[in-house]
Order: sequence, then C-alpha cells, then structure tokens
Amino acid sequence: MTTQQLTKNQGLVFDVLSHSDSPLSAYTILDKLRDNGFRAPLQVYRALDKLLEFGLVHRLESINAFVACAHPHEGCQNHGITAFTICETCSKVTEFHDHVIEDRLKAFAKDRNFKTGKTTIEIRGTCAGCA
Ligand SMILES: [Zn+2]
Ligand SMILES: [Zn+2]
Repeated sequence: MTTQQLTKNQGLVFDVLSHSDSPLSAYTILDKLRDNGFRAPLQVYRALDKLLEFGLVHRLESINAFVACAHPHEGCQNHGITAFTICETCSKVTEFHDHVIEDRLKAFAKDRNFKTGKTTIEIRGTCAGCA
C-alpha cells in the first residue's frame, strides 16, 4: 500500500496525521480539514478506518487518538505487535517494534491457545525531554 493509492479524503487525513507532532483525535482532524470540504466526523472515521486497515495509521486506544505509522513503507500491518511510548506532558508518541517482546507475547498466547488479533502496547509516562 502506498499513499498514491489513497482516495482524496484518505490522502488528506493521512497528510494531516503525517505532519502532526502529536496524536490527533478524529475531531481535531475534522477541524483541520474543514477548508478541504470535510463536514462530518463520519468522513474522517471512514478515511481513518481504511488507513488503519492499510497499516498507514495507528489508533492509540488509551488516549483515543490517531498517529501516522512511523514506517508505513515497511507495511506495518504485517507486524504482529505495535508498541508506543506516549508522553503525558507533551503528547509526543514514539512507535517501536521489538521482536523479543513480540515473541514473548506470541508464546504466551500460544500456550493458552489464544488466537491473537491486533495487539498494541501503549506505555504512558514522561519522555526524556519532559523528565
Ligand atoms: Zn506502524
Ligand atoms: Zn514529553
């Protein structure tokens, strides 16, 4: 999936997220795109659903916000587990993948015959700059 294959609305939403330093809620995205013809939250949610599906965007459940994938060209949807640190002071989010954590969690689920779907790890706290 490349960004060239996106629809106009998907491209606009992805663009807003790619240029943001912090995660954005769907309503903030809507506000930023009003000049581009966005009127209803549903337009944003539809675009976000597809972007999530393509692995270009991630949802941070704990703060109900969205971020652009840090490495969309590698195809994040193929990674089993996505992990984030979220600074509660400046909202800076850093995405990382760690194969040791991934293997450990996969083994944990397998041992329990649990079939895993999407797994997201969100570590909230204070970043180096804010500490
Ligand atoms: Zn990602
Ligand atoms: Zn911070």
